[in-house]
Amino acid sequence: MTTTEQERTVRAACPHDCPDTCALRVTVSGNRVIRVEGDPDHPATDGVLCTKVARYAERTHHPDRLTQPLRRVGPKGSGQFEPVSWAVAMAEIGQRLNQIAARDPQRIVPYSYAGTMGFVQGDGLAQRFFHALGASRLDATICSAAGSNGLASVHGKSIGMAVEQFEHSKLILLWGTNPVTSSVHLWRRIQTAKRKGAVVVAIDPFESDSAQKCDRWLALRPGTDAALALALINVLITEDLLDRDWIEQHTEGFEALTERAMQWPAARAAEICGVAEADIVWLARQWGSVRPAAIRVNYGVQRARGGADAVRAIAALPALTGAWRDAAGGILLSSSGWFPVDVTGWQRPDLMPGWPDRLPRSVNMSAIGEALAIPLENAGASTSVGSTSGSSTSDSSTSIPVEAIVVWNANPVAVAPDSESVIRGFAREDLFTVVLEHFQTDTADWADWVLPATTQMEHFDLHKSYGHTSLVVNHPAISPIGDALPNSEIFRRLARAMGLTEPALFDDDQTVARSALDWSHPRLAGVTWEDLLERGWAPLTMDPKVNPLANGGFPTASGRVQLVDSALSVQGRDPVPDWQPPWESAEVDPERSALYPLQLISPPARNFLNTTFVNVTSIRAREGEPECLLHPADATQRGLVEGALVKVFNDRGAFAARLRVTERARRGVAVAPSIWWHRDAPGIQGGPGRNVNAVTSQRLTEGGAGATFYDCRVEVEALA
Ligand code: SF4
Repeated sequence: MTTTEQERTVRAACPHDCPDTCALRVTVSGNRVIRVEGDPDHPATDGVLCTKVARYAERTHHPDRLTQPLRRVGPKGSGQFEPVSWAVAMAEIGQRLNQIAARDPQRIVPYSYAGTMGFVQGDGLAQRFFHALGASRLDATICSAAGSNGLASVHGKSIGMAVEQFEHSKLILLWGTNPVTSSVHLWRRIQTAKRKGAVVVAIDPFESDSAQKCDRWLALRPGTDAALALALINVLITEDLLDRDWIEQHTEGFEALTERAMQWPAARAAEICGVAEADIVWLARQWGSVRPAAIRVNYGVQRARGGADAVRAIAALPALTGAWRDAAGGILLSSSGWFPVDVTGWQRPDLMPGWPDRLPRSVNMSAIGEALAIPLENAGASTSVGSTSGSSTSDSSTSIPVEAIVVWNANPVAVAPDSESVIRGFAREDLFTVVLEHFQTDTADWADWVLPATTQMEHFDLHKSYGHTSLVVNHPAISPIGDALPNSEIFRRLARAMGLTEPALFDDDQTVARSALDWSHPRLAGVTWEDLLERGWAPLTMDPKVNPLANGGFPTASGRVQLVDSALSVQGRDPVPDWQPPWESAEVDPERSALYPLQLISPPARNFLNTTFVNVTSIRAREGEPECLLHPADATQRGLVEGALVKVFNDRGAFAARLRVTERARRGVAVAPSIWWHRDAPGIQGGPGRNVNAVTSQRLTEGGAGATFYDCRVEVEALA
């Protein structure tokens, strides 16, 4: 696309961990990004961007961008590096990785997540590279694992209702989600629904920006969502607010779920959740009587021990009332399962030694601190094992030491739970650490090598979405800044430097992108690669006006909604959803709960997206400083006053924050909007800065072995 001789417009995609996956129009002059705007033609984007990405030019041309490969010259963590050429960097890194691989390639751990979510610069060529090497696999659990596990148990896959339909719903439950911050396009649709008279209910321990604008706010205790959902089911059954015909035709396990729900009268759930019994009954009656009715549940509900079962119980609600019959009814957690992704063609797991029966071990990224704590002299137990759920330690972490870690699209020192443990691991002198990055992050500080990566403005990619159902293409708008290279090119060069010869490691970016999809699938009927490149986006062949699940056809073994999942008993889990008290609750750990009486949650700060954007000056200025929100009664009980600098702590660590005393935090809950970089947070008594993950835990969820960021007990006191 071209606008003037001086300026041109390029079609692009937002790469960040956000369900909206916006189609962008990037205005460029010379080799400079002038403006980033939403594509007005893309229905999900509708010409609108969040304030973060609207400032993408500032991020792209930030003076702190890494522009050359850097080799460490000082002690680990000292921040002393020297620039070297790509040829030297590749030769030296390749040689070191080959030496480690000769001992056991599983000692090499790839570590990446959703810093960019594209098929090419995310997990495409990089996974092929590590598979061919025989490196450890990464159990990518840090954000959505428990929820995905729970939803797959009920629906068969991560599928749900069309996001476009929310504006036509008459009742909307926002369950563990704050779309004003984390899904601005959904929020616009909800505002439309509100204008048409819809009732919108927020279910959240924190009165978020979204909750403030809802008709009702149910302030439940963190980690009690399953109890609330089961009580709603109880009322639906006892008051016969069911669609028995839909249940009969499209679900299985209704009797067993009924038996379980009868154990959950509203009074019991009210006590556990800390909400009024009358509110539970009111909500159940609303859900059982208003049509169309929709639930937007998000990953907030699954960051505690029983997160998977919470999603299972919540996902049962639309099936029981036949909400799926309406185009604007049902539930949406993720739409990613609608995309016909060909993982085998894309990531080539067949390149792994032992494929398909005996694969390299898997390391759970949510317990990376524990994995890095295994000393090298522990070598010997080189058995291939997978990670386990429900415990703080994965089997993988207790067997093979980690001798090298390669990090891209991630910032584990700041983002992974239990920072002190993670930092101890990255500080190991015998750990070889390579970090691909845009900026000198908390993780890059501990690297042996920092490799400058291109931003989304400088490389090609293709994206699916987990909030809508369009593919979106990202064309490079400008040439790379300095000597930065796309992740894909870095892994191609590294493969060459290491003497790897598998042709799939050297595919160009468009070939990798095309390999990620099953082009023969009916949902890609009529979509051509050429059109996609030209238009910048393409919807899957689905009619958003029709609910694709209205008549069942769920991708489960039976094609029905699995209210009960008998396959779970093989894993030692209850086939029927139930409430599991959080690991750090009075029920499970009374001693810890007495020592640390406050439950801590760390929802996304309004202007950050995980740790991305924290270093963009204008954005950080809007956010201010790290804060901890406490209910007035909790503050008074501790003698704390508004604006005080406080220490939030437990036995894992501590961080400092400015106290905000507000009834937006429910009683007994501390709220720390996140995720700040450690280095930008105030230190305590002259110590290094720490963010909220100084106190979070490496315990894992029961289903999905996911992170439990919101299953965390703390105490708060004044800092002198
Ligand atoms: S972060 Fe989300 S809302 Fe913002 S531009 Fe990206 S996809 Fe759109």
